[in-house]
Amino acid sequence: MKITNVRLGRISVPLRTPFKTALRSVSSAEDVIVEIHTDCGAVGYGEAPPTGAITGDTTGAILGAIQDHIAKTILGRDVDEFEPLLQSVQKCIVGNSSAKAAVDMALWDLYGQLYKLPVYKLLGGGRKQIVTDITISVNDPDTMAADARKAVARGYDCLKMKVGVNPELDVARLAAVRDAVGKDIVIRIDANQAWTPKQAVKLLNRMQEQGLDIELVEQPVAAHDFAGLKYVTERSYVPVLADEAVFSPENAMTILQMGAADLINIKLMKCGGIYNALKIASAAQVFGVECMIGCMLEAKISVNAAVHLACAKNIITRVDLDGPVLCSEDPILGGAVFDEKHITVSDAPGLGIRGIDPAYLTYLS
Ligand code: MG
Repeated sequence: MKITNVRLGRISVPLRTPFKTALRSVSSAEDVIVEIHTDCGAVGYGEAPPTGAITGDTTGAILGAIQDHIAKTILGRDVDEFEPLLQSVQKCIVGNSSAKAAVDMALWDLYGQLYKLPVYKLLGGGRKQIVTDITISVNDPDTMAADARKAVARGYDCLKMKVGVNPELDVARLAAVRDAVGKDIVIRIDANQAWTPKQAVKLLNRMQEQGLDIELVEQPVAAHDFAGLKYVTERSYVPVLADEAVFSPENAMTILQMGAADLINIKLMKCGGIYNALKIASAAQVFGVECMIGCMLEAKISVNAAVHLACAKNIITRVDLDGPVLCSEDPILGGAVFDEKHITVSDAPGLGIRGIDPAYLTYLS
């Protein structure tokens, strides 16, 4: 199975409601699509969202990294020389984790098709179904309480509340949400780097003292501030999950060795794909640190790749793969079935993607 062509395109998928965090506000998912074609007719699919505020990757940067560097490295090569191919993707350009993730997952897709196994089985996995939380955008307390109530009515029993815009409102936001949904719903929060370490400890401990029962907090402090993250982890009643602090297996090792976080969030777009995500999961397992698997605002191709990984690795105990259910339409054919909180992996070979509705797709090459 030789690689004959790397085609690039863009898809645009509208969201049900605008997505608002401490870092950004957007109303549609605008992703780069990668198709890797082969001499036997098999096509591998990948996807990358431009999340400049988090990864630094813009649409132009993703397209340029693939066209000018990654595609040139893999064209003409055999998918069966799999690990060297994956390593070439990581080594041919620095940074550009989203572009690398899109190509990496398309290669896993092809490798699974070559050996006629779904990727989660290739990874040794057994789980067929996982349960995701759903993200509630940061807004005023009443709006967040209303949005939380709607999510519970849709069947979600774990809510991820975005906080950190006007931090003085954060305790009131959580109080309103807890009051609206009752005590049986799991509430986790994501500050997206918005707090200082001391502010984080103060706010988190105030939330717990008020009985708001927060399961975990994602990335309370700046991504680069590992010492600040450790400061919060040691002093907060709420378990701390490192998200924007972990872009690579090396970052994960540093956090693990420092004891700077209680949990680690794996995202394919941060670490450059499944190949590196496996290293993070293994390192975390060695340290006995459980992982969450998350996504950016992504449509189904790339989130589907994360589903395969989540189904294969027991150390991934928390799932935040709500990209597809935040979209109002689904232009992707095949892959995992997203039925609100329930996600069922596909048993088709590779990643199980059959194609993209042409109405949503514009080819660029
Ligand atoms: Mg996060």
